[in-house]
Amino acid sequence: MKLPSDFQFSQASLQAFVDCPQHFYLRYVQGLVWPAVEAEPIEVHERRMALGQHFHRMVHQHLVGVDEARIAQMANEPELDQWWRNYQSYQPATALLLKSEETQASHKTFPEVTLSAALSGYRLLAKYDLIAIRAGERAANRLAVIFDWKTSRHRPRRETLAATLQTRVYRYLLVRAGGYLNDNVAVQPDQVEMIYWFAEFPESPGRFPYDDVQYQADETYLQGLIQRIEALSAEDVQLTDDVRACRYCPYRSYCDRGQRAGKLDEQIEIATSEVETEALLDFDFEQIAEIEF
Ligand code: SF4
Repeated sequence: MKLPSDFQFSQASLQAFVDCPQHFYLRYVQGLVWPAVEAEPIEVHERRMALGQHFHRMVHQHLVGVDEARIAQMANEPELDQWWRNYQSYQPATALLLKSEETQASHKTFPEVTLSAALSGYRLLAKYDLIAIRAGERAANRLAVIFDWKTSRHRPRRETLAATLQTRVYRYLLVRAGGYLNDNVAVQPDQVEMIYWFAEFPESPGRFPYDDVQYQADETYLQGLIQRIEALSAEDVQLTDDVRACRYCPYRSYCDRGQRAGKLDEQIEIATSEVETEALLDFDFEQIAEIEF
């Protein structure tokens, strides 16, 4: 498949390819904008999207030092109020970063940061909600923790989160490109952990440590995915066999996979990786520090 030389891969585009090569092709290669409702009722779907985005902004404000009382005023919907109270009482970054280790250890936080690295002739890029680096004299005491805020009503299964491209790409890229955040010292795989913190389920974060074996496996897997995409001709692009996923895809009429959007409540019960990825809702940030390597 002919890709522009400046094409950038992300966890979202690679996940799209894994879930449905046609989706990847239409969205990321052709850039086809196909106006369609992704899920119904549309007003509920759009409200959920907006609330999730709003919550991300509130947490970002907190991480850059805005007064909590001012942030609380942004919680102008019942869900936001509850999520914010959960966040305040749990303080996930502090609680999970320092919990079982040296409680006095200093740490640096990098909210809404982007890392990228070269891979198989392209750039692989990831936008993080938060990377927190715990300092320590000894390498064994250093930690580099990725936090990702989730506002979905459904807490995905551990196996789903472990397999998602987000978990694999985010940890891999932190090792490849995170030295800049770590006093210019390379981040080792076994210093990395990824934590999904769920605003609806504050006591049940999803924690994913890392190690060199998984790092090597991720590199091989990601290189292989990019090579498969490069080797594919446009005529050979396949549509997914999982037609349930098409109900929540904006291209369903283009692909002749139905007209009506699927119901939001049913979406939760369909545990395909694409649907769960969509349900997790990630957002583009307005102010992202670009760090290129
Ligand atoms: S409608 Fe189905 S086949 Fe078409 S791009 Fe979307 S998921 Fe793929």
